[in-house]
Amino acid sequence: MKTIIKNGTIATDSEVFRGDILIEDGKISAIGEDISCDDAKIVDASGMYVMPGAVDVHTHMDLDVGFARAIDDFYDGTVAAACGGTTTIVDHMAFGPKDCSLWHQVNEYHRLADGNAVVDYGFHGVIQHPVTADRLGELAEIKEKEGITSFKVYMTYDFGLQDDELFNVLRAAKEAGIVITVHCENHGVLTQLRKEFIEQGHTEAKYHPLSRPPRVEAEAVNRMIHLSALAGDAPLYIVHLSSAEGLHEVMKARAENRPNLGVETCIQYLILNDSMYDDPSEGLKAIMSPPLRKDQDREELWQALSEGGLIDTVATDHCPFHFRAGKAEKQYGKDDFTKCPNGAPGVQERLMLMFSEGFMKGRISLPQLVKYASSEPCRMFGLYPQKGSLEPGTDADIVIIDPGKVTHIDRDYIRGASDYSCYEGMDLEGSIEKVFLRGKEIVDNGKFLGEKGEGKYLRRGPSVLAKR
Ligand SMILES: [Zn+2]
Repeated sequence: MKTIIKNGTIATDSEVFRGDILIEDGKISAIGEDISCDDAKIVDASGMYVMPGAVDVHTHMDLDVGFARAIDDFYDGTVAAACGGTTTIVDHMAFGPKDCSLWHQVNEYHRLADGNAVVDYGFHGVIQHPVTADRLGELAEIKEKEGITSFKVYMTYDFGLQDDELFNVLRAAKEAGIVITVHCENHGVLTQLRKEFIEQGHTEAKYHPLSRPPRVEAEAVNRMIHLSALAGDAPLYIVHLSSAEGLHEVMKARAENRPNLGVETCIQYLILNDSMYDDPSEGLKAIMSPPLRKDQDREELWQALSEGGLIDTVATDHCPFHFRAGKAEKQYGKDDFTKCPNGAPGVQERLMLMFSEGFMKGRISLPQLVKYASSEPCRMFGLYPQKGSLEPGTDADIVIIDPGKVTHIDRDYIRGASDYSCYEGMDLEGSIEKVFLRGKEIVDNGKFLGEKGEGKYLRRGPSVLAKR
């Protein structure tokens, strides 16, 4: 089975050119001008952009948070991903039972994802409190047997780690050649503020961002950067950076040339702001942590992406719950914002938001779009160049975008299980024409053509951060 994508405007993270891509047996076999092949199916991409499939390295499919469960399982969530041009995800696991082995959630996530996912997928491991020598000994074992080369730690939530635990994890991870991804928020301060707001009867959604102000993030970002340095420059990747204050800590570290540091922001922090919390009901839709910030924060994050060298990736933290009547988990927060499950959808929206609001509006170039959405996530997590590139010999994961069409985000647009999108009402410049996963067309003009279970588990190599 051969396919030629003809006459497209091809974009990689380093160049943009008119040309063709030949796909054979699921791989890219040639890329350049005027490629011909007699028995190949022709896909005409004239007037369209042709790019590597997008890669979302921060999703939470089927996340079990105890009192609620994220409603996108690995099937629904990856159908949404595919329809949004994302052909690979790396999912962050939920915490396991108290004192469980690190293997517990690895096995659980294979049970959830294998046979269900429709795009290729990998997992970040999770390390929870308490951290023991036995648990740390499992890092190298899981890397070896499962190809899981990144683990997440949390500085807040029930199983969040203390400073001594974070330090021990970072030292063990450096030793094992593993990158530690971290949710940065100061647990003590946010817990205190939440308690005070509820005691004062300030229960509405608008108190959610006020209970987690930007410095709650910035302090934790700064602390993790120093802990990583104290641990011998252990590889560190900061997830979902949301604020200008947090970014300023990253700038300081970059100015000091701190090695082995990766930084992610998420699409919602680039597009939305905290005015979404003004309405006590609608505001529940956007309860996530960290919370949405001010326009000034958004502008600084865009500026950082435009300048380069500060932020490495744009992901989503995709973690949707129902909002409307019926079994609407978001309504748990109706009378108390602290009871609302954290998270919102985004895996379907991310690429086209970056294309429309980033590239088409002139904030980032096309190679930068490819870099933040596809190639750099793969370098960070040991998937490059198999994923995130258009190099001959690599997986033919490709997205074709028609810049002349419009994507309306409304209820009909949503392909996951969620009953809302935070971006409803937006009209985006451009539309996804086709998506290929390992050479197979899985999306055509909004229609999903793939099959349940077609996504493959990805054993990952080491992160670039762990090699430096
Ligand atoms: Zn997350």
